[in-house]
Amino acid sequence: MKALVYGGPGLKSWTDVPDPQIENPTDVIVRVDTTTICGTDLHILKGDVPAVTVGRILGHEGVGTISEIGASVTSLAVGDRVIISCIKSCGHCVNCSAGLFSHCLGDEGASGIGWVFGHLIDGTQAEFVRVPYAENSLHKVPAGVTDEQAVMLSDILPTGFEIGVQYGRVKPGDVVAVIGAGPVGLAAIATAGLYGAATIIAIDLDENRLERAADFGATDAVVSGSADWKEQVLALTDGAGVDVAIEAVGIPQTFTMATEIVRPGGSVANVGVHGAPVDLHLENLWIQNINISMGLVNANTTKMLLKLVASGKLPAEKLATHHFTFDQFLEAYDTFSRAAETKALKVVIA
Ligand code: NAD
Ligand code: ZN
Repeated sequence: MKALVYGGPGLKSWTDVPDPQIENPTDVIVRVDTTTICGTDLHILKGDVPAVTVGRILGHEGVGTISEIGASVTSLAVGDRVIISCIKSCGHCVNCSAGLFSHCLGDEGASGIGWVFGHLIDGTQAEFVRVPYAENSLHKVPAGVTDEQAVMLSDILPTGFEIGVQYGRVKPGDVVAVIGAGPVGLAAIATAGLYGAATIIAIDLDENRLERAADFGATDAVVSGSADWKEQVLALTDGAGVDVAIEAVGIPQTFTMATEIVRPGGSVANVGVHGAPVDLHLENLWIQNINISMGLVNANTTKMLLKLVASGKLPAEKLATHHFTFDQFLEAYDTFSRAAETKALKVVIA
């Protein structure tokens, strides 16, 4: 089969590799029909994630059709159309039982990124992928939900919802600020509305992304870095500060921004992956009773979010801006990596 293979910092190829095989009775092989590229893949390609080694097939988002099933898999069948969760998880170890799928202890005691496709196991940017613990790591796609909608449920929508909105404890009537209106921030914006946020303020450097934020339910937009950005945000809260500030960029500066606009007793939910240490002014946050949360997505809300997509309440399809075939994989990477120029949100490869 063909796959997108990591060749070391700055190097990738769409090339021939051996077909994946069933290795354990809980495995399933999926023919990937639709996949996409995540900002994390760009980080890996820069060499920022040393755990990912040369020869790894990248990608952790995908929708496909089951082509082969392991002997102990009973709830899935060849031919089923499925969402591949970005995280494989056994579903019954002590951490999975607590909903912490990204810390599954299923085998080898690996957790964290060890369980994300395209990191320590081969990923979804390929014609076929082996999915361990398939019964918990795959979700059947109902008729009426397109591949393009469903692929946003592998990672982007659960991440914005779980780590932004749920960890941030968004409540009815809240004023929520989302810093960074990339795919993850837009997912947080779209799902903050599900808990009844009254005001959702999108904050980004990029005017195009701020315009897109309105499509996903943002009520207000503030240009990050403008001289009075903070005053603009505070004005939308009558000077009180926001109830929840969601950081969806991943740089120290935007984490600090989140702490500067939250009201006493409010929440800062950090979604961004920080490649550098952030400044944590614990003394200032302590005196204001700020709740701080962060974490790796667990993708334990996928089935619930899938129902909202199916019912038309969550416009997953609006995230898909550019379309490519598998043979155009390198072009898809190029378009995605120049998002500021191309205005790409998610590039869909099918
Ligand atoms: P992205 O790069 O597409 O979007 C980031 C957005 O931030 C862009 O719109 C950019 O214009 C904006 N931005 C950059 N600098 C800014 C600044 N100073 N002020 C305001 N906005 C600024 O990224 P994405 O795919 O949306 O992902 C966002 C973050 O979430 C990344 O750090 C990613 O690694 C992380 N992530 C976390 C998890 C998790 O499990 N916690 C999962 C997936 C992704
Ligand atoms: Zn587990």
